[in-house]
Amino acid sequence: MPHVITELCTKDAACVAVCPVDCIHPRQDEADFDGATMLYIDPDTCIDCGLCVDECPVKAIFPDNDVPVEWKHYIQRNAEYYKK
Ligand code: SF4
Repeated sequence: MPHVITELCTKDAACVAVCPVDCIHPRQDEADFDGATMLYIDPDTCIDCGLCVDECPVKAIFPDNDVPVEWKHYIQRNAEYYKK
């Protein structure tokens, strides 16, 4: 039950700094940060600590079982980023 980043993401990246397992990418020091439209959580690495949720200034992050229905497809979108 990983956490998921949704449409509201503004690439603020405050979440990246608090994630204890470094599972939110691209980081600002990674090559694809500038071209990315949003950040993504690796579902296989996320430990569901929830620290990123309160850190996000636009409240774009949800546990995957609590993603608003209109953004459910972001569950797959986050996972797909890590299948490249
Ligand atoms: Fe990282 Fe915890 Fe957020 Fe998962 S819930 S992305 S482990 S900060």
